[in-house]
Amino acid sequence: METNGEPITAPPNEAFDTLLVLDFGSQYSHLITRRLRDLQIYSELLPCTANISELPWKPKGIILSGGPYSVYEKDAPHVNWAQLSSLGVPILGICYGLQEIAWHFDNSNVLAGEKREYGHARVKIEKHKGEAVHADKLFNGLGNEMDVYMSHGDKLSHIPQSFSVIADTPNAPLAAIVHNTKPIYGIQFHPEVTHTPKGTELLRNFAVDICEARQHWTMDEFVGKEIARIRALVGEKGQVIGAVSGGVDSTVAAKLMNEAIGPRFHAILVDNGLLRQDEAKTVHKTLTEDLGIRLTVVDASQRFLDELRGVTEPEKKRRIIGRNFIEVFQEEAKKIEEAAASSPQAGEIEWLLQGTLYPDVIESISFKGPSATIKTHHNVGGLPGIMHLKLIEPLRELFKEQVILHFRLRCRLYFICNVPSGGPINARHVILPNARTKLGIPERLVWRHPFPGPGLAIRVLGEVTESQLAIARHADVIFQEEIVAGGFYREISQSFAAVLPVKAVGVAGDKRIWAQVISLRAVQTTDFMTADFWYPPKEFIKKVSLRITNEVNGVSRVVFDLTSKPPGTIEME
Ligand code: GLN
Repeated sequence: METNGEPITAPPNEAFDTLLVLDFGSQYSHLITRRLRDLQIYSELLPCTANISELPWKPKGIILSGGPYSVYEKDAPHVNWAQLSSLGVPILGICYGLQEIAWHFDNSNVLAGEKREYGHARVKIEKHKGEAVHADKLFNGLGNEMDVYMSHGDKLSHIPQSFSVIADTPNAPLAAIVHNTKPIYGIQFHPEVTHTPKGTELLRNFAVDICEARQHWTMDEFVGKEIARIRALVGEKGQVIGAVSGGVDSTVAAKLMNEAIGPRFHAILVDNGLLRQDEAKTVHKTLTEDLGIRLTVVDASQRFLDELRGVTEPEKKRRIIGRNFIEVFQEEAKKIEEAAASSPQAGEIEWLLQGTLYPDVIESISFKGPSATIKTHHNVGGLPGIMHLKLIEPLRELFKEQVILHFRLRCRLYFICNVPSGGPINARHVILPNARTKLGIPERLVWRHPFPGPGLAIRVLGEVTESQLAIARHADVIFQEEIVAGGFYREISQSFAAVLPVKAVGVAGDKRIWAQVISLRAVQTTDFMTADFWYPPKEFIKKVSLRITNEVNGVSRVVFDLTSKPPGTIEME
């Protein structure tokens, strides 16, 4: 498919060569998509039950993912082979996907193995074995042996008819197979996980050499097309509103909207009184002065604090904050709408911007098996349903790291360091020597740690009061200042000071005090699904503790949180 001359509003699966991943419910399915996108090959994931004959676009190749089922079970999921074959594109089956291929061609050859195989294995690549015409392409350039990650209990009992073996391990003599005349491959191991060091190269061999997909899904291409697509969607006069928080996702989404339609995009920041020190001011400055975005800041602090009075249960706090956020946002949107209606040049507000990322999309479409209900993806505060607006989601094809990395990379100079040999480069390896990116997103914002929607309300454990908020705010400023001064900001993924709902006795100036306990937490993670606690250097933590107990009124002690996720969560409530 040519991108040149393609209508600019074409969705990415039409504008870019696309690999389709059919999901059988493996915990790693999304990683296949991710590895391909790291290779600048556009890829989408659909459930294995998707009706692929009705796709409005044609994939260059199909990957069948792993899955928790056994192909021989009564309720095991299967693809529609008639539809799959009629597409006539190369197929790669991974683990369950391999077993699905074997089962389809010869349905008696998958059995429960006597031994399960989880973890590392060394695969021997069998070159030129059998008469298969496509035999050498999948492992081309990967050497004679390869370290791989296995995770299976079932195995192939014999080679399916018209297939040849192209790799084996002592435990799995049929570790990889290929059809003798068609480009159909199956591998028992998982190339998509980092524990298979050359897995990405194998996926490249499949996508580029076998499927002939071009590696042209670059972020610059994508962003350019997305801006053009937004313009076409919204039309000459259409108006869009969206909430911003000061975080990376909503800022990048807002910046894209601003590039696409300028002041016809209206950003709203709700100051809920639960923000950090000077945050509303800083966000206002960044968005309006640095990025030129049209922004309204609504000060609704009192309303949120009044509603939170006396509430201690974390879920209840979150619900109150969510509900008030929607109400305030709607009231403000109405005002903007009324103002817009009186201006003859402007059209109606028809669209709501949302910073949905690809993991949310995957969550909503991946295969959950016959019994599980499919989750619809969580909308920020449930706004779209209530406001009857159409959604614009410019980041919905991106993983968070891609959003961050792209904007980090859009500067003239950057250094890449500490990349593990053979591993993919990600945001953590990039160091920016200059302060601003080309798109003008200031560096402090691009590296900013995530901050939760309910804000300091969930960092003040128990009842949220003005005085507790003041303590949380002040302790946080000190902690953040010292993290930056120590040069630790970028090695930490998220960090905060929380006010515990207990008082402890201390001694200050020879006087007994009975005051709050502050808990400090810093974690390291790449995806926020799991996280390790960051272990602070002694001198650093000594200084932070001393400063907090000396400078923050109402604190008697400082403790440091040594809990990873799981079993902890990143935030305390
Ligand atoms: N359930 C299958 C097995 O145990 C496939 C596992 C997988 O795809 N990871 O072999």
